Amino acid sequence: MSVNEIKIADNLYIYSSSRYHNINSSAFLTREGVLIIDTMLFPDDMKRVRRLVKLREPKGIKDIINTHYHLDHTCGNAIFNDARIIALDLCRDMMKRHGKEILEEFAKVEPEIEGTEINLPNITFNKKANLFFEDEELELISTPGHSPDSICVYWKNKEILFAGDTVIPVPYFYYGNREKLIKTLLDIIALKPKLIIQGHGMPIQEENIEKELNSKIKYLKKINEIVKESIETKLSKREIHRIPIDKCGIEKDPDPDDSFWIRDIHISNLARVYRDLK
Ligand SMILES: [Zn+2]
Repeated sequence: MSVNEIKIADNLYIYSSSRYHNINSSAFLTREGVLIIDTMLFPDDMKRVRRLVKLREPKGIKDIINTHYHLDHTCGNAIFNDARIIALDLCRDMMKRHGKEILEEFAKVEPEIEGTEINLPNITFNKKANLFFEDEELELISTPGHSPDSICVYWKNKEILFAGDTVIPVPYFYYGNREKLIKTLLDIIALKPKLIIQGHGMPIQEENIEKELNSKIKYLKKINEIVKESIETKLSKREIHRIPIDKCGIEKDPDPDDSFWIRDIHISNLARVYRDLK
């Protein structure tokens, strides 16, 4: 089974697909219907989520939030014809400008998504928006760093943060900005959420949040220092791309089930820092 369901609260379920780096889609059940945060990479996985959600709330999915434009969070939008799709202005712009091209490129590795239609967000906002469902309030906040259009969704009543890829096992900023990501992670620590739902992987419990986010910040600072030193000591680009992750402050494997992905993220980060400093 590629999609797993985890119950977090009476009105909150998380669906995770093992077919693409444990990508998460969260379902928030309201009396008006279900709100989904992120729509996975494979439309077939999203169809499965839609079926599972319907068993929990027969009204089905009415609203969708995309946390950023990357395909593994938006490609499943294609199966929804009449949902409201909410995202940052910039997310819609980036999907409109680059979506097709990225999809064609991605389809070379994942042929299943070939020909999938890019279904753009139809409600957008700039910086911050609030959604109200009876007594529940969701705050949508711009959190640049992983990508310029990234947002987090904060469920105020339960103090749960849906972080998209702003928080994943190893921070990834190849398409974003390292310094902005550090600032965003510090803001999240200051927010003191009780639970963080990551874009990929398992939720982070309250007692581990500060420690885990600080370790990610340490990595983001250290990778810059190490690449800078390596350029000064005239290490070649190839040698710099081989600097291991544990040299950058991440000691134990942050996701033993997906070590290759973690390595790929780290190599991309090294390449980005090198490009920025050169
Ligand atoms: Zn992702």
